[in-house]
Amino acid sequence: MIDIQVRKLKELGLKITPQRLAVLDFLDGNTSHPSAADIYLSLRKEYPSMSMATVYNTVDVLAKNGLLLELPITKDRMNYDPDTSEHDHAFCSRCGRIFDVFPDGAAGVPATRAAELDGFRVVAVRKVYYVVCKDCEGK
Ligand code: ZN
Ligand code: MN
Repeated sequence: MIDIQVRKLKELGLKITPQRLAVLDFLDGNTSHPSAADIYLSLRKEYPSMSMATVYNTVDVLAKNGLLLELPITKDRMNYDPDTSEHDHAFCSRCGRIFDVFPDGAAGVPATRAAELDGFRVVAVRKVYYVVCKDCEGK
């Protein structure tokens, strides 16, 4: 997976720096749906020269090229998901965590489709469940 991303960055003329590699490595297989700030805060200790700009331009290139999902779930930040397969998310408004929700049915086929969509080519369906998660409900 990282190989594809490295190739894409190179193709687009972005230099493969240790900082950019660290961002790719952090995202690889990451299921926590981090924001750019989360990525930056997690990496700056090990990479003191890491900057928010590096994080932003790296995730931006990946997202624009379909290698990273952008999740506009909250209005104050964008969250990112390296799992670009079709799935939904549940957002806990108390702790702010974002959980994966995988459809049980055939992949990519929503159970219901509104008549208003007739004649439109559906490119993606993204559902967000707004929840109070089990941990938070127990408190
Ligand atoms: Zn919660
Ligand atoms: Mn996800």
